[in-house]
Amino acid sequence: MTRIAFIGLGNMGGPMAANLVKAGHAVIGYDLSHDMLKAAEATGVKPANVLTEALAEAEVVVTMLPKGQHVLTVWTDILRSVPKGTLLIDSSTIDVDSARKAHVMAGEVGCLSLDAPVSGGTGGASAGTLTFMAGGSPESFAAAKPLLEVMGRKIVHCGDAGAGQAAKICNNMILGISMIGVCEAFVLGEKLGLSHQALFDVASTSSGQCWSINTYCPVPGPVPTSPANNDYKPGFSAALMLKDLRLSQEAALSSGASTPLGAEAAQLYALFEKLGNGGRDFSAIIEMFREAG
Ligand code: NAD
Repeated sequence: MTRIAFIGLGNMGGPMAANLVKAGHAVIGYDLSHDMLKAAEATGVKPANVLTEALAEAEVVVTMLPKGQHVLTVWTDILRSVPKGTLLIDSSTIDVDSARKAHVMAGEVGCLSLDAPVSGGTGGASAGTLTFMAGGSPESFAAAKPLLEVMGRKIVHCGDAGAGQAAKICNNMILGISMIGVCEAFVLGEKLGLSHQALFDVASTSSGQCWSINTYCPVPGPVPTSPANNDYKPGFSAALMLKDLRLSQEAALSSGASTPLGAEAAQLYALFEKLGNGGRDFSAIIEMFREAG
């Protein structure tokens, strides 16, 4: 049994904390939102009224927050309160530079740290089947692994500080680009009189195959579980896809990488969001291409 402080009990953090409780750990949670705190309490998480109350006896602190600025602010407060040797795990999706800064801050006061963003969405968070991409020292990874295994199914140590965030945004840049490619192909197929099923049967077993068509097909029919069959309810929202594409472009700029298709994908998702679609599944972008034709 480990004493864990869990900070950020939103759509992802709530169910992740609940799984730690189910596995027998003592979890104290803190969130700015009273509603989220109440919901977490119902799953066995002990609610804290202020951050320091959650940290009082914590051996491990997990953060699951919106953006880099939130993580740096909260980690600054955490690192003022916890003793040397405490392990801090950040599972938020944030920019690589902030993640690296957070590791430096932790190292300066003798704490262990891991960036460990996730893939798998709210469904994976509830089911405990997330994929964790971790960055940090072998010592931090070894200490965190048993807890990550409670919340996830696949745990990958990607390298040193920031490597987890780097893997996450590279993966999601592939996803954003490939989804746009698949959507364009279905729209072109429609114009050419090709049925959705025929294109799916060919492309999903040929060189066009990828997750965006085989598992998450953006038209209803061929893959019954894809959001296209459910009025494009997310799934993975277009707003979150845009967030990750923007993170990839910030990282491309600061590292000097050339990512022209990533840049184009970010612009297309920005337009899609501006048209009022941020809350829909990211595969609904097919409608924007259909309407533009
Ligand atoms: P969310 O907005 O539902 O939850 C974030 C929570 O953090 C909120 O409850 C908010 O009140 C709390 N919070 C903000 N600032 C705080 C502070 N200073 N102290 C305490 N609590 C604070 O977001 P989410 O969907 O749970 O996502 C969390 C992170 O996980 C994001 O970085 C997101 O990009 C990433 N992510 C989300 C998904 C998904 O499908 N939702 C999938 C993978 C990764």
